[in-house]
Amino acid sequence: MNLSNSYAELPVHFYARVKADPAPNPSLLAWNEALARHLGLEELTQDRERLTRLFSGNEPLPGGVTIAIAYAGHQFGNFVPQLGDGRAALIAEAISPVDGRTYDIQLKGSGQTPFSRNGDGKSPLGPVIREYLVSEAMHRLGVPTTRSLAAVASGGIVMRDRVHPGGVLTRVATSHLRVGTFQFFAARNDRDALQRLADYAMARHYPDAVAADRPLLAFFSAVVAAQAKLVAHWMALGFIHGVMNTDNTAISGETLDYGPCAFMDEFHIDKVFSSIDERGRYAYGQQAHMAQWNLARLAECLMLLDGTTDEYEALLAAFQADFETRYFALMSRKLGFSEPADEHKALVTAWLQRLQDNQLDYTQSFRQLASRLNADGPPLFGDFEARWLQQIDSQPGGRQEAARIMATSNPLFIPRNHQVERAIMAAYEDDLSVFNELQQVLSAPFQEHSGLTQYAEPPRENERVLATFCGT
Ligand code: AMP
Ligand code: MG
Repeated sequence: MNLSNSYAELPVHFYARVKADPAPNPSLLAWNEALARHLGLEELTQDRERLTRLFSGNEPLPGGVTIAIAYAGHQFGNFVPQLGDGRAALIAEAISPVDGRTYDIQLKGSGQTPFSRNGDGKSPLGPVIREYLVSEAMHRLGVPTTRSLAAVASGGIVMRDRVHPGGVLTRVATSHLRVGTFQFFAARNDRDALQRLADYAMARHYPDAVAADRPLLAFFSAVVAAQAKLVAHWMALGFIHGVMNTDNTAISGETLDYGPCAFMDEFHIDKVFSSIDERGRYAYGQQAHMAQWNLARLAECLMLLDGTTDEYEALLAAFQADFETRYFALMSRKLGFSEPADEHKALVTAWLQRLQDNQLDYTQSFRQLASRLNADGPPLFGDFEARWLQQIDSQPGGRQEAARIMATSNPLFIPRNHQVERAIMAAYEDDLSVFNELQQVLSAPFQEHSGLTQYAEPPRENERVLATFCGT
């Protein structure tokens, strides 16, 4: 293991030293061996009992310094000057022997910290299982994301709407720096701290910015591009984050915080699942706009150090075009085109309109469309189908090439809400079979898994999940 504690070496008001609460009777539900290898932690894999102690918070990781990080944030548009890790603790950073990068290792649900406000610092097991499944699926689907190293049932109970079993998730991120981390110091007009934080963020994420003429502007521009790329991926997958507050907007451009997130079943541009998103601020179709709003909040922080409103506005304006280019590139591939072209845009629009008008399943429809490449008989998708086939036939490689592209850009398996709910309900009864089967299909989401095809199916009417909860 090659551990570091670079964040704990920053000034003391950046964080608080904490101790994880012991879990009364922990059991290890999942250990991500592949990720452990990436982090240089594979030596731990041998000893399950020790793993259980380490990733329940019962034994500190040797060489790690446990801290809770301070941050602020706009929650649903309202600024809260102090949030911070209220139910999470960074236990160490691992330097990967594979890519040389530094990764945060964080326990979520390991007890109170000075930032807990009125919260208990705990997590029910449900959100632990949900985050483990969805974050790992996102990684396999090619989306930048925090990862999950371990899931533990604490053996204790957590009170929410009712009594839940408790859990601890081990989250891995290239860092937990958020827009809200910058806002924390900006709100205190602490320029020294802001500069320290910016220097730290640039060194860790965007080293090229350090050497630029105007480092902070280059840094901002890199964060804008990372967010544009991230949200383009979400949109192409039918993913709704659900709580895009500035404290959940990672500087790295990774998907951060799997609370009330959801994958859409049937397509609708205004889809909202999150029970706390009453006004649809973070509806599916709002996500690019909200990411840009969050980036504007970052610009306000950086402007305290360098740059004019005009300069930041110009960089921020690039977001929309960058997002659209990336989104249409992904959508073109989903429709089977090797290179994006302007004439695909109308096709994408017509396709989505068709899905929406007919309440068709977003994920499954792309696979069904692909099956039309070598099918006879009446069209499945009306007039759209002939129009689309005509454009496919005019590209080099024709239908064969389209079939290949579509099979690798359109997943068969996504973590569908009703299956994630089933996995949670079963785990509450000590049955991990659904959790394990879901992990299996989601570890290779573009291929068939014999005997597990049910996980590719949309929900039946009685299985539909209408709302998701952060449940924290
Ligand atoms: P979230 O909505 O999950 O991004 O969390 C927003 C803020 O609430 C963060 O500062 C969290 O640390 C804090 N928080 C959420 N749940 C709890 C909890 N059970 N105990 C303490 N703090 C919490
Ligand atoms: Mg959060």
